[in-house]
Amino acid sequence: MTQQARQLTAEVISIGDEMTSGARLDTNTQWLSRRLGELGIQVSFHTTVADTLDQNVDVFRIAAERVDIIVSTGGLGPTRDDLTREALSKLIGKPLELNPLAMKHIEQMFSRRKRDMPERNRVQAMFPAGSQQIFNPQGTAPGVEMVIPRQEHGESRVFALPGVPAEMKRMFDETVAPRILEEKGHGTEIQQHVMKFFGTGESDMENRLGPMIARDREPRVGITVSTATISLRITATGRDAADCQAQIEETRAEIMERVPEFYFGEGDRYEQHDAINEDLIAREQNLMVVEYGRAAPLGDWFAKLGDTPAYKGGLSLANPQQLQDIFGGENEQQALAIIKQKCSLDWILVIDSYPTLQHDALLPQPASEITLTVITPDAEVLTKTETLGGHPDVLQPRIAKAGMAWLRAALATTDKPEKETTA
Ligand code: ATP
Repeated sequence: MTQQARQLTAEVISIGDEMTSGARLDTNTQWLSRRLGELGIQVSFHTTVADTLDQNVDVFRIAAERVDIIVSTGGLGPTRDDLTREALSKLIGKPLELNPLAMKHIEQMFSRRKRDMPERNRVQAMFPAGSQQIFNPQGTAPGVEMVIPRQEHGESRVFALPGVPAEMKRMFDETVAPRILEEKGHGTEIQQHVMKFFGTGESDMENRLGPMIARDREPRVGITVSTATISLRITATGRDAADCQAQIEETRAEIMERVPEFYFGEGDRYEQHDAINEDLIAREQNLMVVEYGRAAPLGDWFAKLGDTPAYKGGLSLANPQQLQDIFGGENEQQALAIIKQKCSLDWILVIDSYPTLQHDALLPQPASEITLTVITPDAEVLTKTETLGGHPDVLQPRIAKAGMAWLRAALATTDKPEKETTA
């Protein structure tokens, strides 16, 4: 079910001295741009402006001339430097009027917090004539929705939201996104689904997905990469949840046809260790990890899984010699066999080794050969060498993830043990 939607353009405006002075990083713009992109809106401009009335008026005027949708954040507080309402009213030449519903909500927010409402908070209920309130369930600053007529013809639609990220995000998802979708001309229900992949690069993924990642495709498929884990986010809009789900399922099946080998699971926060944990639980088997060198991310990630029978712990050691010194054996393999037997292990994953990082340099680290070893329940030793380098922030997790991909490959080619049946 592929529908063609009208391509709307947008500008995101971030308002505040905090941003222009460099005191605070403007994360709202990044978040909003992603969300707008997921809705199929093309974000064409980002603007950051200080708390100065005339400059704010200029910024909104320029944006209204060049895009269909403007989303701004900040400047809706009660203080004198919160100028967004005033700027919008000045721009369209209409006065600020008290919105009794907004006033009531602000008063209730204060009484719920058992505080008297300072008189200056009244300004937060003042709206440019003809505008609408965007309900803010978490704070006192309601948002403003209105249209700015263009000089020549047409108009631009403005959604002014507060700067506090948690408030802004909820208001966007609950109110702004459905209103934008209405304007796009089909259903107002939005559903998202995330699929996770590891083992290839972003450009290869893009090549293999081809037209699936086109900006105007419905449902939209967006790619993001975080330390070599690729997320594909499918965003479907439709009449209702069932309509969205049907579109997601169709797109999901098409993705699985194109890139089946790198797929490991579903969900924003799902990682390879979650997939391994689930697989081992289903097999009633367990795992220990041995990490040599100057990091031990696997031990940390698996430990965060909590109380799982599938994870028997991890060893973080300087080198294989240490393993022998502690556990005995003529060589590393014998030491591992001793551990396997003593701890009743099914699987062992060994990373040899995480390099020492030159953090000061902040430069890509030279590539080195990393040996990944999996010991199977039948004591088979499966070894692979990968040459890995890269930015210091991502190199160690990248190595750990390569190790998990190797273990997953071994799991995939090893039959699940026969369950003992009781007659
Ligand atoms: P409030 O009613 O809280 O005053 P407001 O709309 O006036 O809301 P601001 O005063 O501009 O918003 O910002 C409130 C806080 O939100 C800022 O101190 C900052 O912590 C955060 N914030 C504002 N804009 C951004 C942004 N673009 N990115 C990230 N954080 C932001």
